[in-house]
Amino acid sequence: RQRQLNKLKHTATTTADGEEIELSANIETVDDVKAIHKFGADGVGLMRSEFLYLNRDTLPEEDEQFEIYAEIVKKMKGKVLTIRTVDLGVDKNPRWFGNNGTPNAALNPALGLTGIRLCHAEPVMFRTQLRAILRAAHLGRVKLMFPMISGLDELKQSLSHLDTARRQLSERGDEFGDVEVGCMIEIPSAAMTVASLLKWVDFISIGTNDLIQYTLAVDRNDDAVAHLYQPAHPALVKLLAHVIRTANRAGKAVSVCGEMAGDTVYTRLLLGLGLRHFSMNINNLLDVKDIVLRSDTGKLENEIVRLLRNEDTDKVDSLLKKLNEENF
Ligand code: PEP
Ligand code: MG
Repeated sequence: RQRQLNKLKHTATTTADGEEIELSANIETVDDVKAIHKFGADGVGLMRSEFLYLNRDTLPEEDEQFEIYAEIVKKMKGKVLTIRTVDLGVDKNPRWFGNNGTPNAALNPALGLTGIRLCHAEPVMFRTQLRAILRAAHLGRVKLMFPMISGLDELKQSLSHLDTARRQLSERGDEFGDVEVGCMIEIPSAAMTVASLLKWVDFISIGTNDLIQYTLAVDRNDDAVAHLYQPAHPALVKLLAHVIRTANRAGKAVSVCGEMAGDTVYTRLLLGLGLRHFSMNINNLLDVKDIVLRSDTGKLENEIVRLLRNEDTDKVDSLLKKLNEENF
């Protein structure tokens, strides 16, 4: 089977009814880039930048960050690199944060000063990263995206920091490149107001890991409630449908970069909801591709209408099973 999958590495990702699908990878370190080319990914849909900030006692400086981003951009050989600004605070809690790297001790860290909120609270740190990313964008195709945006105010605030970072670089006379700017949709309030957010960004990426956690009030890392963590919960399916449809209608790019994008159980569901760009752990890419090649999005879209009408989890599960077993 692995040998069969290997044959898919360099075939175009087109569905049975001729829809082109983009399959990108999520990366977390410089070393992960090699696999992009090895498995024929279209690009990087999510580079988590937390690694730059962890296991150290000081903040990474601009030049240090720039050099790492530049190295990755060059290794991409013309493919798109989507860098997510740093998303710290819950489980990834850096030492310079004054706590020796232990998990955030706030009562509800996942609802506390994390992600983009932490960046807004630390503007010098945030703009340092933004400048480093903008400089790296001079060397290749870079997209920039903000994590954990809860609504328009946070998005506008982030964009204003980006403007400041650009102005700082201009004043210094440093070279920097154009970036497409996007935000993650991983908080229900962002999903519900996505139409407004889309007016301000070039693309969005749905972070299902957090979107599931916040929609269902189920800690994504707590084994005691793992059985309640249901990616195909009717509420999630409706939210995903809304976000994907709204982006498609607005003519803006939308991807899913949570684990759901690399789980073949959900490939057809996502295709049927109108998703055309998946970003995932590279190890899942060929399995997902294999399903994409054997799927007909037109047929799936019709079937999904039935699934969307259903709010009974068992029925949703059996409809999903049907999607996966039969010829779609
Ligand atoms: C997500 O929440 O789905 C996501 C991709 O971000 P992370 O897993 O880094 O929180
Ligand atoms: Mg997330």
